[in-house]
Amino acid sequence: MKTLPIYTYGFDILRKKTKRLTKIDDKIVELVSNMFYTMGKANGIGLAAPQVGLDLALTVIDLTRVEGEEDTKPLTLINPKVKDSHGDIVIEEGCLSIPQIRAEVERPEKVFIEYQDLDLNPQTIELDGMISRVAQHEIDHLNGVLFVDHLSKEVKSDFREQLNLIKKGGIQANYLLAELPKKGKKSSKNYILDRI
Ligand code: ZN
Repeated sequence: MKTLPIYTYGFDILRKKTKRLTKIDDKIVELVSNMFYTMGKANGIGLAAPQVGLDLALTVIDLTRVEGEEDTKPLTLINPKVKDSHGDIVIEEGCLSIPQIRAEVERPEKVFIEYQDLDLNPQTIELDGMISRVAQHEIDHLNGVLFVDHLSKEVKSDFREQLNLIKKGGIQANYLLAELPKKGKKSSKNYILDRI
């Protein structure tokens, strides 16, 4: 298993609409394993391909380390689309690509999703509760949308300074972050292991 560096706010890849997957080869299967592994190491519960620098409509979700969600089946969603939704609920969100920022976001409570599994078989699933929220956040990633885009101008402006700091690479996380491109300078990896 390989830990993949996580791309943070400011990288263009997080703003791209991803490409549909039409073929699953060994590389994709390996990528999915590495994404689950990377997510677990980062203590994350959802991870989308753009967050590991890839322009693919693929996301993984695993809530089994969350108290009360141990029985929730991990999901690999390929080419997912929200087809229907009900209700509205405000829940606080964070994002592995936007370290140290959390904010309340309003989204539908329940969603009906169409997706393909790792054999590219079409599947549908109705989600409610925490997994519904995580799936919506991840599907947003596949469309180049971040949770901060859902905030009001006023709330987002409160985070402006912190977001700019992330863009400049001035943040720390206890998981591997992708290195910002540097002009003519050699840099060390900008991650800190704060739990060793
Ligand atoms: Zn995210």
